[in-house]
Amino acid sequence: MALIGNALIVGGGVGGMCAAIQLRKLGVAVTLVEQNPSWAPDGAGITISGPTLRALRTIGVVDEVLRRGGHWDAVDVCGADGSVKVSVPVLPAIDGEGLPGAAGIMRPVLADILGHAVQAAGAEVRLGVSFSAMTPDDDGVDVQFTDGSRGRYDLVIGADGVHSAVRKLVLPAFAGPAFTGQGSWRAVVPRRRRNSTIYMGRTTKAGLNPISETECYLFVLDKREGMDFIDREQWPARLAELLAEFGGQVGEIRDALRAGALPEARLLYRPLAGHMIAGPWHRGRIVLLGDTVHATTPHLASGAGIAVEGAIVLAEELARRHSLEGALLAYAGRHYDRARLVVSASGRMGQIEREGGSLDEHTQVMRDAQEKLRAPL
Ligand SMILES: Cc1cc2nc3c(=O)[nH]c(=O)nc-3n(C[C@H](O)[C@H](O)[C@H](O)COP(=O)(O)OP(=O)(O)OC[C@H]3O[C@@H](n4cnc5c(N)ncnc54)[C@H](O)[C@@H]3O)c2cc1C
Repeated sequence: MALIGNALIVGGGVGGMCAAIQLRKLGVAVTLVEQNPSWAPDGAGITISGPTLRALRTIGVVDEVLRRGGHWDAVDVCGADGSVKVSVPVLPAIDGEGLPGAAGIMRPVLADILGHAVQAAGAEVRLGVSFSAMTPDDDGVDVQFTDGSRGRYDLVIGADGVHSAVRKLVLPAFAGPAFTGQGSWRAVVPRRRRNSTIYMGRTTKAGLNPISETECYLFVLDKREGMDFIDREQWPARLAELLAEFGGQVGEIRDALRAGALPEARLLYRPLAGHMIAGPWHRGRIVLLGDTVHATTPHLASGAGIAVEGAIVLAEELARRHSLEGALLAYAGRHYDRARLVVSASGRMGQIEREGGSLDEHTQVMRDAQEKLRAPL
């Protein structure tokens, strides 16, 4: 007998959408509420690692992601002047004939692909809606929604991101994510190369990853003292300052920023925060997924990937266990180590960057983690 007949998912990000698709495959009636009426995330690029491509194949969307995104099999490592020093092949695709080593896509495009898959799977999607109260009992969870409606669910999945409201019901003592000492800059610019490109400056590292046939995104990590937000009007000048030492395409981006030719709408700045919460990740019939319990910095480009993997593991455990408690314990138990690997290796890479530590150690931490993440879920 199925453990649950229906489920509410709070949060329509990558994790929530993949959970909706996987639960529909089990025949569970799914309602997904997303507070953002447009259901579109920030207009930034996102990198999709090999293990994430494998997970998106399980979800059923990898062909569309590769069709609408960009992909590469090698990284060109350049000096600050933009000259290529070495081309390093990315690890080959995992057991997936035909999959590239890595890919990139605009976040709103990925959200569009997953959103269509959620609706095609038959989930009920309610946009511009959140919950205002949840009352769990032994047999279900009564939910009051912000639009005044009510519902009762066998399981509630909190997939509402790093600042989760559902988490307050499951882990009321958790203090919130910690600032990691870096900020992230991203900009959408024209694509010039087949490969991903990294520029190694004296004080700053910048990278360009393809997100389609014609565009790529620039990413730069910046050492910062506090979690202060920077006014949008200052973004072009602040990013240009960070790129002072570069030539090549990154130098041209700096010059365009200074000339006002790269509008602030193509840029995004965000201070980085994260956490790794020990399991169990549920209380009764409410369970947490994705950034709510493991929010990471972008150093391994795997945060969204582990949210997708969490959704796959949660659905698999719900399908094969004989009790809901057993399934929710097994989900956290099975997923925890991979999530912790991503959060801790990313954190260590950020620390090395902030402290100007060993480049060899940085590369080693990244390669070790990438190798381990190739293991089956
Ligand atoms: C700067 C930066 C760069 C990154 N780059 C990469 C990368 O290249 N590759 C990668 O794999 N990962 C990357 N990540 C990590 C990745 O973005 C996250 O791990 C991923 O988005 C987590 O997905 P999620 O579904 O758990 O949460 P989210 O994507 O945050 O989705 C949460 C959703 O819940 C909604 N919501 C919030 N509160 C409520 C509420 N109360 N009610 C209803 N809805 C609600 C939000 O609107 C949102 O749609 C990066 C992260 C950062 C900060």
